[in-house]
Amino acid sequence: MERSAASLRGVGPKTAERLTRLGVQKWGDLAFLFPIRYEDRTQVRVLGSLSPGEKVLVEGVLELAEVAFGRRRSFLCRIADGTGALTLRFFYFSRVQQKNLKKGIRLRCYGEVRVGPTGLEMIHPEYRILSLSENPPSLTLTPIYPATHGLYQQKLRDLVQQVLDALLNNPPADYVSSLLCGNWPSFLEALIFLHGPPPDADVATLVNGRHSCQKRMALEELIAQRLSLRQLKISASKDRAEPLEDQHCWLQAIQKLLPFHLTKAQSLALEDIVNDLNRPVPMLRLLHGDVGSGKTVLAVLASAVAASSFCQSAVMVPTELLAEQHFSNFRRWLEPLGVNVAYLTGSTTGKVRKEVLTSIANGKVQVVVGTHALFSEDVRFYKLGLIIVDEQHRFGVDQRLQLRLKGISRGLCPHQLVMSATPIPRTLAMTAYADLDCSVIAELPAGRKPVRTVVVPDNRRDQLVQRVIQHCKEGQQAYWVCPIIEESDTMELQAAEDLEQDLTEGMFELSVGLLHGKMKVVEKERVMRAFKEKKVDVLVATTIVEVGVDIPNATLMVVENSDRMGLGQLHQLRGRVGRGDDASSCVLLYKPPLSNIARERLQVLRETSDGFRIAEKDLELRGAGEVLGTRQAGIVELTIADLVRNADLLPMVIKVSEELLEVFPDRVDPLIERWISGRSQYGSV
Ligand code: ADP
Ligand code: MG
Repeated sequence: MERSAASLRGVGPKTAERLTRLGVQKWGDLAFLFPIRYEDRTQVRVLGSLSPGEKVLVEGVLELAEVAFGRRRSFLCRIADGTGALTLRFFYFSRVQQKNLKKGIRLRCYGEVRVGPTGLEMIHPEYRILSLSENPPSLTLTPIYPATHGLYQQKLRDLVQQVLDALLNNPPADYVSSLLCGNWPSFLEALIFLHGPPPDADVATLVNGRHSCQKRMALEELIAQRLSLRQLKISASKDRAEPLEDQHCWLQAIQKLLPFHLTKAQSLALEDIVNDLNRPVPMLRLLHGDVGSGKTVLAVLASAVAASSFCQSAVMVPTELLAEQHFSNFRRWLEPLGVNVAYLTGSTTGKVRKEVLTSIANGKVQVVVGTHALFSEDVRFYKLGLIIVDEQHRFGVDQRLQLRLKGISRGLCPHQLVMSATPIPRTLAMTAYADLDCSVIAELPAGRKPVRTVVVPDNRRDQLVQRVIQHCKEGQQAYWVCPIIEESDTMELQAAEDLEQDLTEGMFELSVGLLHGKMKVVEKERVMRAFKEKKVDVLVATTIVEVGVDIPNATLMVVENSDRMGLGQLHQLRGRVGRGDDASSCVLLYKPPLSNIARERLQVLRETSDGFRIAEKDLELRGAGEVLGTRQAGIVELTIADLVRNADLLPMVIKVSEELLEVFPDRVDPLIERWISGRSQYGSV
């Protein structure tokens, strides 16, 4: 598994490079390159039996091969097998191809049958010239691998097969089979099955990712995942940290400045945090609270404790927009105490960057708010005591680790506070966040009025525009979010720009702003500032406003294409309104007709604003096949497992992991190594 993929037959420098782009460097990476679907090439179909739309394997003698000059030049081959004939059409072809495809040879082709100008045809089929002593067609279903980056499926299949053959000769250790409850295939059995299932395998289940062989793999991966996090926690508990104490009574001072009192839940979470910071062991705490529950202020208070003990804090957020917003919050509450706050993102450059870096390095600045640029090479902290990661589901565990490594100095590790609004069920949290202690903010600040949510067909757009105008004339503001699902960023951009144009024309008495991910930071800032200062009434935005943005005067949110979005994402978007004392509304637009499932899903949002209920309902309604991405669950990328799809396995994952740690500790490292390759820092920190 550890050997380099370059050592396989047929891997030259070019192929090696393409494999690298695919993330494949070792044998193990090939073994874990799981097919996304399968094709049945075990039966050769006779040409007389084909109908359009089928994907089939056929064989025949080449009767005709010629270049046709029609509207589009193409190379046409006709094969026949006595029962019928089929045309193969190539729009792209080489001289070599032309030379090889001669009359009289036998061809085996795989492709989709379609109706062409002269009968049935295949466009660009996969084909192979058969020799007289040709093998029978494949004995197993043919795996189709994900994005290939210029490698042919055939090539990948061949490489994977070489690895599997080697593993069969020299079977890898099976670390978990003996501990699993129930009947499961062995590691190797499952692996071999998935790369070449027998013709009678249940393909539908495989494509859904719910076959027992996939579950067996998922189990092992989740176990490895959990083990790596558990080890992290175990080793972190042996680390030492600077105990941080509020020596200047800044907690009280800030709370006096706040325009509100902390909620009970916030106070309890703050107590957890302050206690942890006080200990000579690094804090590893997750602050879990639904959208709008008021996590930011706790982050500010935590960094005040650090500053009060003459230590620096790094506050990492996923977007520049959010960094900018946090920067101004942290400044507002910390600068009155004489605590200096700096801002650092990828687009902080030139002289400004130099200055910021210097003041971080010499300790003039006590709090730095930024994006992942905070752990770029050139950032050196004077004395980093606390790391805060907001919207943690947008980061991988490894990014958090990197920042932690950066902060280790004189044998002391920084404390860590990670904040997340992703509502996930308990077992899931136990796996995803196995390295963290957890504080939950299970209440929203008092006085919040629930966001009134309505579901509206998008042919009532004109009425809606009138409503938005009315709304803004009353001095309030609105977001109009237009996500495009499953299409490119550029499409999303186009849609946002078109919408802005439309609305600007339709609402000439209002000022309409545009915000999207492709804008330069200064432009984004300019627009956000204008929105904050009420110079913009309606902000047309892509889903980049999804995370963290906090503008209490914006009390109306319109979301386009809501029927095609995940409930979790809609919940996050809706969380942008309802942040102040005024009543807010959310209008979910859809393109009629609305399917029953979509209706039921949107209904959930109308009924509840409880993130946990929404997440559970989403799971239940989307059911098989469709799952929340791992991104939302906030965990490093998983190869085959999916925290949501495999949620039923989690109790077993937890049980087996603990058993391994206690009874078979020597299996822990190899398991982590097998599944979490290239993340070798796991074992050592
Ligand atoms: P999130 O948990 O989603 O990050 P924020 O920290 O952005 O939430 O807080 C949402 C809004 O609620 C902010 O405007 C914040 O100032 C305000 N807020 C926070 N705590 C309280 C509180 N205890 N009472 C009233 N408003 C609060
Ligand atoms: Mg937030």
